[in-house]
Amino acid sequence: MKTKIVKINSENIDEDLISEAASLIKEGKLVAFPTETVYGLGANGLDEEAVIKIFEAKGRPQDNPLILHIESIDQLMPLVEYVPEIAYQCIERFWPGPLTMIFKRSSLVPDVISGGLDTVAIRMPENKIARELIRWSKVPIAAPSANLSGKPSPTAAHHVIRDLLGRVDMIIDGGSTGVGLESTVLDLSGDIPMVLRPGGITIEDLKEIIPNVTQDLGTIKESEDIVPKSPGQKYRHYAPLAEMRVYTGDVEDIVKAINLACHELKIQGRKIGIMATVETKDRYNLGIIVKVVGTREQKETIAANLFDVIRQFDDEDVDIILAEGVETDQIGMAIMNRMMKASGGKIIQV
Ligand code: AMP
Ligand code: MG
Repeated sequence: MKTKIVKINSENIDEDLISEAASLIKEGKLVAFPTETVYGLGANGLDEEAVIKIFEAKGRPQDNPLILHIESIDQLMPLVEYVPEIAYQCIERFWPGPLTMIFKRSSLVPDVISGGLDTVAIRMPENKIARELIRWSKVPIAAPSANLSGKPSPTAAHHVIRDLLGRVDMIIDGGSTGVGLESTVLDLSGDIPMVLRPGGITIEDLKEIIPNVTQDLGTIKESEDIVPKSPGQKYRHYAPLAEMRVYTGDVEDIVKAINLACHELKIQGRKIGIMATVETKDRYNLGIIVKVVGTREQKETIAANLFDVIRQFDDEDVDIILAEGVETDQIGMAIMNRMMKASGGKIIQV
């Protein structure tokens, strides 16, 4: 398939290009587009055949449900059985934005969207290109991250091109995404509101509205005894080709432990990459590839660059990535969740 790549400026949206992209969506085709979290791979969420193409293009297991993206509240009601009171408060506070909510689904939602569950995940993105695309398409757009299944999520158009060129009809290049990690998934379909995936909206933010919000243990710990409640979370995700280890604890101890590990790995002849922070980048021995993911002073910078840096290490063919972990407050929770998944649970507490 030929993939058309178009550039759209979110501050000055070209209506011809958006209407062309929207026509493709209406015809049941695939369009990758930017959101404020990561790039999404979009199809008409009410068209079963179009949605199946998403799973094929990504190589995504069919039991991993998709998020429907909407642009107005009017689009929400037909998709769900009911909207709990708490959801209205979350909508008021966090939409548009990086919060996905799970509701009991209506019969309008194709089975394939929900991966066989009786619920549906819905989000209203903030990115202007995403919103215009949904508005022009006049349908909810199903859009998982626009990467090959298992790879790090795309935070720039060139990541999407690398993974999906020839597999989708159009890729909209709208520059870098802002948050850089996927949305928070909040399940409101059961008795107790539960975070199934930490993301752009933090647990601290949610607690202001839902003091009793809980978090699925599977998002914090990788263990054979814990099966995550969100189907997608049980798969290996965001994985670099290289082996990855994540060090957590006191920063000084992290630096020491990574330097020590480097010493041993060098003797074994392994090509090492270190994922460091602004504060620590000069503390590592020369001759090793050190990449700065962001600053500890502002963890949002780490979130924004994490997936790109993982991809860069793969481009440089390192054998092993030694990554500095961060504290799990605020956005740190989502960062550590992604690092846990990317490393296959290889978290080393120092
Ligand atoms: P992605 O589309 O790559 O951002 O992944 C979407 C995430 O939302 C995956 O972890 C899915 O398992 C999760 N998800 C989507 N729909 C549901 C649902 N109905 N119930 C639970 N988790 C869901
Ligand atoms: Mg994904």
